[in-house]
Amino acid sequence: MQTESIEIATGAPLTLLSEEERMFQGSIREFAIEKIRPLVHDMDRNAKLDEGLIRAFFDLGIMGIEIPEEFGGAGSTFFNAVIVVEELSHVDASCGVIVDVHNTLVNNAVLRWASPEQKARYFPRLAAGEVGAYALSEEGSGSDAFALACRAEEKPDHWLLNGRKLWITSAAEARIFIVFANVNPDLGYKGITAFIVERDFEGFQVGKKEDKLGLRASSTCELILDDCRVPKENVLGEIGRGYKIAIETLNEGRIGIGAQMIGVARGALEHAVAYCKERKQFGKAISEFQGVQFQIAQAATDLEAARLMVYNAARLKDARQPFVKEAAMAKLFSSQVCERVTSLSVELFGGNGFTKEYPVEKFWRDSKIGSIYEGTSNMQLATIAKTILTERL
Ligand SMILES: Cc1cc2nc3c(=O)[nH]c(=O)nc-3n(C[C@H](O)[C@H](O)[C@H](O)COP(=O)(O)OP(=O)(O)OC[C@H]3O[C@@H](n4cnc5c(N)ncnc54)[C@H](O)[C@@H]3O)c2cc1C
Repeated sequence: MQTESIEIATGAPLTLLSEEERMFQGSIREFAIEKIRPLVHDMDRNAKLDEGLIRAFFDLGIMGIEIPEEFGGAGSTFFNAVIVVEELSHVDASCGVIVDVHNTLVNNAVLRWASPEQKARYFPRLAAGEVGAYALSEEGSGSDAFALACRAEEKPDHWLLNGRKLWITSAAEARIFIVFANVNPDLGYKGITAFIVERDFEGFQVGKKEDKLGLRASSTCELILDDCRVPKENVLGEIGRGYKIAIETLNEGRIGIGAQMIGVARGALEHAVAYCKERKQFGKAISEFQGVQFQIAQAATDLEAARLMVYNAARLKDARQPFVKEAAMAKLFSSQVCERVTSLSVELFGGNGFTKEYPVEKFWRDSKIGSIYEGTSNMQLATIAKTILTERL
């Protein structure tokens, strides 16, 4: 468990980055534009991430942002993870999500809940080349995540896991999975336990890959656990406390989804602004029409508001301050803004926006996932309402 709190200069503007953050942001932005952008169209069409890119994410050090340096990580902040996810997603949301899930869910869960031995065993691998995935959802349990049916049965020298997981991001590439299963359904959610499962474990299989509307290059697969043998020492945290691990990692992880959404919205808007300055109708650039200018101004304003919410939630988390309500608001709002801004961007491209020759239709397709995963928008509203209604005024 991390105990140190990060020094935050109170009163500093939220979007004013430190020298180190600015340099980091600049290098990821450059990488995204130069190395990812040329591959985006084909990765989307082929529904597959470029393997060289995944290797490059490790080489860049962005798969171990918060992993302590002693294990080969960068020992950096959650805020830096948010910067990376925004920068990658402004070019490709699928690259954004593989890095996001790896850092904000998998590494985060290990950082907060793993034993010293587990950290020593898994962090060097997670920092250096093995992709992580996070397996909570099942066919019958999405929003109602704790109704999960996956079972874990204790044997004398191992656990046996049985069941199926659905919708698991990065499952095609991952080697290390955080899997949630119930050790005793009679206990309800208090039976839920987290396990670290390796792809090579006996009885573990990655199943069908989904053919999706957006985020196509990110793999989303079923996991099949058929008498999957998991060593005793691979229980993550305490037996029966998996529900707490799930709630707390998702509370943090959804700030990363907020970052993905502001990245996607920004990417679409940048393309739209450039196009509006080029495209001529009625004898002038369409950006000269006040009607178009106002649409762009509103989109940029919405995006700025969403970015402030995401950055603030991340800064609160790094400062060890309460952030659950702010994280839910940031994810809810940024996914709404992302849908609006990407939709407008398609419109501003006119007929061209509706074709795959131009980049904006993909941003629009990629925007939709923000209101679904890591808790649907209704689930965010439920969290926000619960905190507001129980807050002391
Ligand atoms: C591309 C993709 C990647 C994913 N990656 C992962 C992953 O890596 N790991 C993982 O564990 N899961 C993952 N998921 C699963 C995702 O978190 C779930 O899809 C999500 O939580 C919603 O669950 P569901 O699909 O079962 O929808 P449901 O829970 O069936 O919801 C359907 C609708 O009902 C509404 N609803 C449900 N209950 C209520 C309620 N009480 N009040 C009001 N409205 C309600 C919802 O808001 C939604 O609109 C992924 C999903 C997708 C599509």
